[in-house]
Amino acid sequence: MKKVSIVIPCYNEEEMLPLYFKAVDPVIKKIKDYSFDFVLVNDGSKDNTLQVMNDLYIKRDDIIVCSLSRNFGQNPAFSAGLKVCDGDYAIMMDSDLQDPVELIAQICEKFSEGYEVVNPHRADRTTDSYIKRKTAGMFYRFINKLEGKEVAPENVNCFRGISRRVIDEINNLSEVDRQIRTEIPFVGYKTCTLDFKRSNRSAGESKYNMSKMFLLAFDNISATTAKPLYTPIKVGSVMTGVFGGLFLISLVLMILTWCDVGGLVSEYYIIFPLFLMTTIFFACSIIVFFIGIVSLYLHNILINTRNRPNHIIDIVKKPEDKK
Ligand code: UDP
Ligand code: MG
Repeated sequence: MKKVSIVIPCYNEEEMLPLYFKAVDPVIKKIKDYSFDFVLVNDGSKDNTLQVMNDLYIKRDDIIVCSLSRNFGQNPAFSAGLKVCDGDYAIMMDSDLQDPVELIAQICEKFSEGYEVVNPHRADRTTDSYIKRKTAGMFYRFINKLEGKEVAPENVNCFRGISRRVIDEINNLSEVDRQIRTEIPFVGYKTCTLDFKRSNRSAGESKYNMSKMFLLAFDNISATTAKPLYTPIKVGSVMTGVFGGLFLISLVLMILTWCDVGGLVSEYYIIFPLFLMTTIFFACSIIVFFIGIVSLYLHNILINTRNRPNHIIDIVKKPEDKK
């Protein structure tokens, strides 16, 4: 029987953990085709979360406790859990029951159908504030448009079902800054979506405020795409072209003024400030252009030091495999 490891990051979740198991146990009992274990990652909690985990570990035979040395954040906690888990599949979910445990059964069905990535999709975000809904929508549109392909499926967070092949590929990624949300689409493989409605937390409180959300969005963008580094060279080239042209025109006018051709000397009070302004703008555009050249090198350094594989093979079939 295939095993599913349920990976759960926990930061100050002493109240939620017992509620979580009360909810999840009846669900997994009904699933006959898979066995389950739980990887509980304590992300440097300041309350009694670790104690609650240890109690569960003593009482049950399906618990793996993985306690981090301090608080690293939800994404690193998931990464730690994925390193520790040994299931044929993993389901990553929050401990606060906002990711409905009932969906575990449907995710397993999708595994049986051959899907290697199951993306529970928040079809309804009405439980979120207006600002959170709008900023989340902007984030997904921006990151996907920037990269020119879907690198972060809209309204899919860390709640995922993934196969062993995907787990191994993620574990092999070399970057220190982990962003599960964009790493899973990077790995690829046969993917499907499951709609669900996210409820409110039943205990404890959210650890994400607005500034943390923005930092998370920026981390995802910078970890996924280096394309913003092309902006200075593009802007610098246009600026240099435009202001270079204007500078040349004003330079010619200035020379004509100095030589008093066509009585231009009487327009000196207009031509000189114009010349000064275009000179300053031209100098600025050259600076932006040179920053652009540095950015291009930075882009290449970033891509190469990140050391991600430039492809991942799904299937290879050779003649000898037919035998
Ligand atoms: N979490 C974590 N480390 C952190 C913050 C959060 O492991 O530094 C866990 C938390 O215990 C929960 C999940 O990540 O299981 C989601 O956190 P939260 O509910 O605060 O996020 P929200 O649902 O508000 O986005
Ligand atoms: Mg939550």
